[in-house]
Amino acid sequence: MTVSFESLGLSETVLEGVRASGYKAPTEIQERTIPLALEGKDLIGLGETGSGKTAAFGLPILHRLHGEEAGLRALILVPTRELCVQVAEDLRRYGQGTGLHICTAFGGIDIGIQESAFKRGLDLLVACPGRLIDHLERRNLTLENVSTVVLDEADRMLDMGFLPQIRRIFVRCPLRRQNWLFSATMLPEVEELCGNFMPEAVRVQIGGLSQTPRTISHRFVAISNTDKERFTEELLRRQDRRVLIFVNRKSTAEKLGRMLKRIGFPADSIHGDKSAEARHAVLRAFESGRTRFLVATDVAARGIDVDDIGVVLNFDMPMAVEDYIHRIGRTGRAGASGTAITLVAPIDRRMHKSVIGHLNGESTPGTGDRPGGGPGGRGRGGRGGRPRDGGKRRKGRPGASA
Ligand code: AMP
Repeated sequence: MTVSFESLGLSETVLEGVRASGYKAPTEIQERTIPLALEGKDLIGLGETGSGKTAAFGLPILHRLHGEEAGLRALILVPTRELCVQVAEDLRRYGQGTGLHICTAFGGIDIGIQESAFKRGLDLLVACPGRLIDHLERRNLTLENVSTVVLDEADRMLDMGFLPQIRRIFVRCPLRRQNWLFSATMLPEVEELCGNFMPEAVRVQIGGLSQTPRTISHRFVAISNTDKERFTEELLRRQDRRVLIFVNRKSTAEKLGRMLKRIGFPADSIHGDKSAEARHAVLRAFESGRTRFLVATDVAARGIDVDDIGVVLNFDMPMAVEDYIHRIGRTGRAGASGTAITLVAPIDRRMHKSVIGHLNGESTPGTGDRPGGGPGGRGRGGRGGRPRDGGKRRKGRPGASA
């Protein structure tokens, strides 16, 4: 029997926001986590990318905050500014009848604009850890009345080296609070964080851990580096849906985006060397369909929430199996079909083997799926296959910043 949103215990005001979003029934993660969240439990939600987790944590928060005394009471930490904007937009839509003030805090734009917004009213904050610390240091806000903290895409946040900031933020929050953590992959660092901050948490796992969405077909194309551009051009000529193209370097994103535009494709690129405003404009054009082909680096692509991405093209092989999962999670969302095509240059053979091993259910990210972790790239490498630099691999990794 299909469970309805009405049976989950949410208020009518929040249900109106759900209806306005066009959702007919809760997704599996929503069905399983919302009642627990409303009971006040700490939660660890492990789900496929695109499983509907924003509403899973957002709806119970809006339900609780609505009707309470005003003030900052809920904090959602996210890894990137794009995700920050996306989550806040979703929550404003779900909470349109609540009158709650939902603000964002992310880097790359004038901090004063965000400070002014807080002064107009702040009930719920969606923030990137670095910028939130800046605000705390300037005493622009206080976390002393925060009763709910959500860590969204916790694996990605830790991967980006945000653990020290997260700890500093937690120290500023009241000890008695509800904690929710969402992650696509359960890496050892995420386990450790949960053990420290939410030992009693209920774990809700949707599908197999770090499973890739079932609606996606995977293709691997052996190719030389010099043929990649021509292959991409030919592929795009045959596509009438959106295509998201992943590369490992900001410079490659810029160069490939320009090349595709020059030959007349409705294409653009998004990466960390573009300003927040420029990135926002690129995302909007992609969402509206004005741009159909978008070249992106991993981090820059995190905020993309477009259901109709027909193909994810890994122009460059991802550097880790987790990245493969996150990338291809951009297609096949909300039940739609999608294709993941990965170009495999001779140098990528080891990672190719690791990805195939994962898809065949032979390994899970964080348990030895990085190349260099042992024979075939699947040895344990001391820390469950994580890099030996304490998880900060992005910092020193050539071309991997985004
Ligand atoms: P998320 O995992 O929160 O990024 O959500 C992935 C996509 O699923 C977004 O486009 C949401 O708008 C959509 N979505 C979330 N919940 C539902 C639902 N109950 N029914 C249909 N679509 C949904």
